[in-house]
Amino acid sequence: MTIGFIGLGNMGRHMARNLLDAGFSLTVHDVREEAAEEHLLRGAAWASTPAACAAEVDVLITMLPTPRIVEQVLLEGGAADALREGALWIDMSTSTPEVARRIDADRLAPRGVRAMDAPVSGMAKGAEAGTLQIFAGGDPADFARALPVLRAMGAPERILHVGPNGAGYTVKLMINLLWFSHLVAASEVLAMGVKAGVSLDVLRTSLLASPAASHFLDSDMLSVLERGDYDDSFAMVLACKDLGLAVDLGRDVGVSTELSALVEQIYRRAKSRYGELAGEMSPVRLYEELAGQEFRLATLTVPVATVDSGAPVDPAPAA
Ligand code: NAD
Repeated sequence: MTIGFIGLGNMGRHMARNLLDAGFSLTVHDVREEAAEEHLLRGAAWASTPAACAAEVDVLITMLPTPRIVEQVLLEGGAADALREGALWIDMSTSTPEVARRIDADRLAPRGVRAMDAPVSGMAKGAEAGTLQIFAGGDPADFARALPVLRAMGAPERILHVGPNGAGYTVKLMINLLWFSHLVAASEVLAMGVKAGVSLDVLRTSLLASPAASHFLDSDMLSVLERGDYDDSFAMVLACKDLGLAVDLGRDVGVSTELSALVEQIYRRAKSRYGELAGEMSPVRLYEELAGQEFRLATLTVPVATVDSGAPVDPAPAA
């Protein structure tokens, strides 16, 4: 099977490399030609335009920043018109059902070209390890055909067929919306608690032992809490794009989005303050400023107090 791949950024570069390692014949394209260096060394062919990347392939994958760029590459860049009858376009970008539907209806379906959406989660480290979670929207027959390709980039048990065309984008936007909301809620709680005098370690341990525990606080936030790493591999500009698309979707389907809109505004404020390329967890820093301290765990685990005596027990060393 021959594959064209457009968009060799933080995610796409690893995904394309994993396709090569799985033995697929690959043609690649990106506006930054240097992004393809590692792929050309591994035997990929270079295409200087989106159209050249799409011509002759069985499957075209796009992994691009925004819906507008997806549209640009497929329409103005000529990729849609270059795809052959029977070829399959898989958009793995976090984009919107509406853009893909328009491209499909106007330029692909009338010529017998197939389309599906398959956005991902799992961050750049999941892309690198080939363990992405993939949410595919499309016809079951197209999903079956795409499966060997998707398996080269994602963990088999995490590749889900979530519904017809567009469903993959929707699921992905809802995941990011909830995750960003967790981040804002957890940060606000930590800021308040530490400002009120409770140590960060005690507060976090108590929250994790309570019904308010969350996977975000338990696991995802550790990069900040342990290393001050706000995840530069996913830029704030893209996080804000996803939140905007999610709020737009709420408007389109007539669901009010009070909380989501607020989270979007907080993200936009953090983007203005720390920059478009700052990591996706940068809004935590807004709350660190409010708390007057960085959120970093101490090296020792939290002293445990018994309910009966309230007396602190010696802290145990960290595992
Ligand atoms: P990125 O900005 O790092 O990479 C995008 C790539 O597209 C770049 O190499 C860029 O040069 C290329 N590009 C831009 N315009 C182009 C054009 N007109 N023609 C050809 N190439 C063009 O973005 P990313 O972090 O890899 O994210 C890609 C998509 O995946 C986005 O939709 C993002 O929301 C989504 N996503 C990202 C992550 C993450 O952790 N980074 C996780 C899940 C999903």
